[in-house]
Amino acid sequence: MASDTSPATSLLDHAAEAYVKLALAIGLHDPDYVDAYFGPQLWRDEAKAAGQTIQDLIASARQLLQDLGRIPRSQDDETLALRHQCLSRHLRSAIARLEMLEGHAFTFEEEAFALYDAYPPVYTSAFFEEMLAKLGGLLPGTGSVAQRYKSFRSHFVIPRDKLDDVFQAAIRECRDRTRKAIALPGGDQFTLEYVTDKPWSGYNWFKGSSTSLIQINTDLPIYIDRAVDLAAHEGYPGHHVYNTLLEAHLAREKQWIEFTVYVLFSPQSLIAEGTANFGIEVAFPGEERTSFERATLFPLAGLDPAETQRYYDVHRLTGVLNYAHNEAARGYLNGTMSRKQAEEWLVTYALMSAERSAQRVRFIDVYRSYVINYNLGQDLVRQYIEARGGTSDHPSRRWEEFRNLISSPRLPSSLTSLPSPKRV
Ligand SMILES: [Zn+2]
Repeated sequence: MASDTSPATSLLDHAAEAYVKLALAIGLHDPDYVDAYFGPQLWRDEAKAAGQTIQDLIASARQLLQDLGRIPRSQDDETLALRHQCLSRHLRSAIARLEMLEGHAFTFEEEAFALYDAYPPVYTSAFFEEMLAKLGGLLPGTGSVAQRYKSFRSHFVIPRDKLDDVFQAAIRECRDRTRKAIALPGGDQFTLEYVTDKPWSGYNWFKGSSTSLIQINTDLPIYIDRAVDLAAHEGYPGHHVYNTLLEAHLAREKQWIEFTVYVLFSPQSLIAEGTANFGIEVAFPGEERTSFERATLFPLAGLDPAETQRYYDVHRLTGVLNYAHNEAARGYLNGTMSRKQAEEWLVTYALMSAERSAQRVRFIDVYRSYVINYNLGQDLVRQYIEARGGTSDHPSRRWEEFRNLISSPRLPSSLTSLPSPKRV
């Protein structure tokens, strides 16, 4: 379908093309920067041949930002106005990443805002202590909450030889539920691979043409909750669906070329991770997840279905402890915690094993303030969708708002009217 060819649109199209080329050039200095690209291969080759330095790229990004500022904003088309705003904000984020590559040291807070357009709230140890005390009330046995949690969880590991059956069942369920609510382009698909020695637990690599490669890291024991979490987060209605809709609606239908590149360290990642996490609740409203797991996944994994309810009561509470990852990253990146202290913080407040906390700090080494995108992203997405009537009592409205959000160029700061820092 042809796109609108007003003069402002044509200028935006040019700026968008320059942004994609800039992102590809930054990717040559930063191997994690470009997460997915399915635009012209020629542009990738040109970026390599040009051999621009970081200083060159900062200068062109600043120039491009100025050029964008001179393009008149659309007054009557909200999507076009969002596109313009989104491009400018992504350019500012690219400049910040380039400055980091040049050696500029941002604080955790500055970096989170510069790259992801959001302010992570501060959670003190008192907050986590309170959550741990609540959790203690749910866990059987004697000993510390951490010991009881570890012992409780040990009964819910998916045996290695049942992993694929359990994951395939979780994927089928998530896919069926998503396809009933969202029209996806024909032929959308992904391949699943089990890998080791990675700093993450799962990853979606979008390949274009509605196709993804999803990898699951089997370094550490995989607990039963990860089946639906990963199937929904990486696949349906998470990253695979998000990328597929952006490709179909924005990159192809509107021919907005900037959506042929997915920059990992950009505001888009807060929306991506936030919707991937919140998507689990959208796909399984109320008690539907527990019912599905009791009837299907627990028996497939050889686990006791009678324990499903308690397992998910505990899981809900430990979900809040995810904010402990931000505090570990804040302390570690701001230099107020050593690596060992950050690992210990995660063991104490996120109830991680020593091995998992070491994996998480390795994740922070590479991805830094990216950790905010999971928990803060999820909360901002929930607030946005619920404020628009997509509450758990209105599942079809919730799907509709969710679908609209993952098909539009919306920025994190526009998800909430309260983007300022707060202390909890
Ligand atoms: Zn993710």
